[in-house]
Amino acid sequence: MFVKRMAGAGLTRLDATLVFEALSMACPSVAAFLSIHNMCAAMIDKFGSDLLRKKYLPKALSMETFFSYCLTEPGSGSDAAALKTKGDKSNLDYSLTGTKAFISGGGYSDAYIIMARMGDDDTKGITAVIVDDGAVGLTFGGLEDKMGWRSQPTRQVQMDECKTPIENLLGEEGKGFSYAMAGLDGGRLNIAACSLGAAQQAFDQTRAYMAERKAFGKTIDKFQALQFRLADIEIELQSARTFLRHAAWKLDNGAPDATHFCAMAKKLVTDMGSKVANDCLQLHGGYGYLADYGIEKIVRDLRVHQILEGTNEIMRIIVARGLST
Ligand SMILES: Cc1cc2nc3c(=O)[nH]c(=O)nc-3n(C[C@H](O)[C@H](O)[C@H](O)COP(=O)(O)OP(=O)(O)OC[C@H]3O[C@@H](n4cnc5c(N)ncnc54)[C@H](O)[C@@H]3O)c2cc1C
Repeated sequence: MFVKRMAGAGLTRLDATLVFEALSMACPSVAAFLSIHNMCAAMIDKFGSDLLRKKYLPKALSMETFFSYCLTEPGSGSDAAALKTKGDKSNLDYSLTGTKAFISGGGYSDAYIIMARMGDDDTKGITAVIVDDGAVGLTFGGLEDKMGWRSQPTRQVQMDECKTPIENLLGEEGKGFSYAMAGLDGGRLNIAACSLGAAQQAFDQTRAYMAERKAFGKTIDKFQALQFRLADIEIELQSARTFLRHAAWKLDNGAPDATHFCAMAKKLVTDMGSKVANDCLQLHGGYGYLADYGIEKIVRDLRVHQILEGTNEIMRIIVARGLST
């Protein structure tokens, strides 16, 4: 975690790419789940008041408590700024009404960072607040039945005049959208690192498998056509890794083009991860299709990395925008 004052590990985003790469070699679904919690904790650290940091971070950092990030709604995903969850303020609390869709950790987490509309219909009308599990008016949809990421729950988060105390405002009113986007810079690096680690794991398993599996009187790693495919994968993995570390370094150092690089890294590495995992499945032949060999799980888990935290089409939009300024 990235919180020095609250006794976190004090690691950088660059460090985090190594941590999430390593974790996802065991399970990309669990690693990615942790990465969303990590993104939320980093948002509280960066934008939260001292009171909020003291209230939430110590237990978040030791992972006694877990956080979810709630931006997407049934009617707005890529166009996140069109969100409709409405927030009203009284002297004592905020009252939220609306539905968040696809929330990782929905119904499981101890608290939710909710982006809600409290002002005009533009990004400046959006405010971020933290809602505790058990808050009045907070309920959850059914468990989504997903292709991958099956180790972690995804549910709708529903709010009907859901109350959260005024102190649970994250940062300043009207800045919630910029906090949500800033959180995603780091989140996109984390997700990319999860694709990288899982793809590396698939590759390592595939090389071991090919050294044992025989066809036409020799092990299949002796066929030059397949050696060339392994060489291509090695080049893809190493170049993606180098680019990811570079983007993380940019974010750590506050480079003006850090968002541009985080978007490029997310697209490049998650596309590469899915392609490599799929290639590894092919190199296993029919056995790659069987659950026992573990490769099909990696293919299923990595697919969503091309969709969430901004689809890879949206990553191209961010990159193109950077080119025109
Ligand atoms: C398993 C899972 C977990 C998730 N976890 C969370 C979470 O914890 N918190 C959260 O807030 N959200 C979460 N999401 C939501 C995720 O971020 C959204 O699904 C994603 O942003 C895409 O939004 P959408 O599904 O509404 O697709 P849409 O926005 O409807 O997009 C549909 C298609 O159109 C494309 N498209 C849209 N606009 C453009 C454009 N201008 N130009 C080109 N192409 C475009 C998209 O790339 C996509 O291919 C999760 C999603 C999944 C599947």
